[in-house]
Amino acid sequence: MKVSVADVLVAGGGAIGLSVAEAAARRGLSVTLLERERVGARASWAGAGMLNCRPWPRTTRGGPDYFDLLLASIRLHEQWAARLLEETDIDVGFRRCGAVELYTPERNDAKGVGQIGRLLEGCAARGVRCQRINAADVKALEPRVAVQDIVAALHLPDDAQIRPPRFARALALSCRQREVVVNEGAAVADVWIEDGQARGVVMSDGTRHGAGSVVMCTGAWTGQFETLRRLAPRIGRIEPVRGQSRCVRAW
Ligand SMILES: Cc1cc2nc3c(=O)[nH]c(=O)nc-3n(C[C@H](O)[C@H](O)[C@H](O)COP(=O)(O)OP(=O)(O)OC[C@H]3O[C@@H](n4cnc5c(N)ncnc54)[C@H](O)[C@@H]3O)c2cc1C
Repeated sequence: MKVSVADVLVAGGGAIGLSVAEAAARRGLSVTLLERERVGARASWAGAGMLNCRPWPRTTRGGPDYFDLLLASIRLHEQWAARLLEETDIDVGFRRCGAVELYTPERNDAKGVGQIGRLLEGCAARGVRCQRINAADVKALEPRVAVQDIVAALHLPDDAQIRPPRFARALALSCRQREVVVNEGAAVADVWIEDGQARGVVMSDGTRHGAGSVVMCTGAWTGQFETLRRLAPRIGRIEPVRGQSRCVRAW
């Protein structure tokens, strides 16, 4: 049974799915977003929100690469945070807080030293401020860090951060303000393909949602879709893994 037709159908309501839905809706497209659980409750809730780039030097091939994209993305986050605050009244917590990277004795081998050199070179080539600092500088920046075991340190003053739960909440509200149909508790079973074209998605209860375009934003669970695995077998290797992050008050 076909239950709806949208210009764009987004599967997965994390930061990526919500951003895609919001961007499409802003361009006047009708958008439906299908989320198996609740929007913004998975990686986009757990993420630490660090917006940073540790670029390697450019390859000789030239042209923009992954690190250029990353840097452009970080720059856009600042404007994005301002727009979301204006539109939703939610402060996503964008801050150019800077970062200090510490190297302990285990990283004081040829590989670790080589990495610092490459990082400094890569940053210089792309205008990312990155400076080698000593223990006294680390203490001045972060007085509660124990510096006795630190063999090297870098200061990257342009690193930024956001608060991922607030970011997802703001994106979800922005989507709703733009009339994106957000369906929570809606599990997609697979992409619906007919005559070699994506026509929409098949839901776990067998119903179908039709769409002009389908965007799969199911993050670490993307390996579950048979059609995608058939098109690109490596997708089958994507799976969620368990991890932990820790948030400490440093002052
Ligand atoms: C502990 C941790 C720390 C991190 N720290 C950082 C950091 O500091 N900086 C940084 O840039 N990144 C960080 N990340 C990575 C970042 O959080 C993720 O890259 C980002 O949130 C991914 O967003 P997503 O929308 O792709 O995934 P998710 O937020 O996981 O969204 C995918 C959504 O798809 C839904 N879904 C799955 N299957 C289906 C289905 N069949 N039907 C419908 N919906 C489905 C899920 O329920 C989920 O809501 C961190 C991640 C983790 C886990």
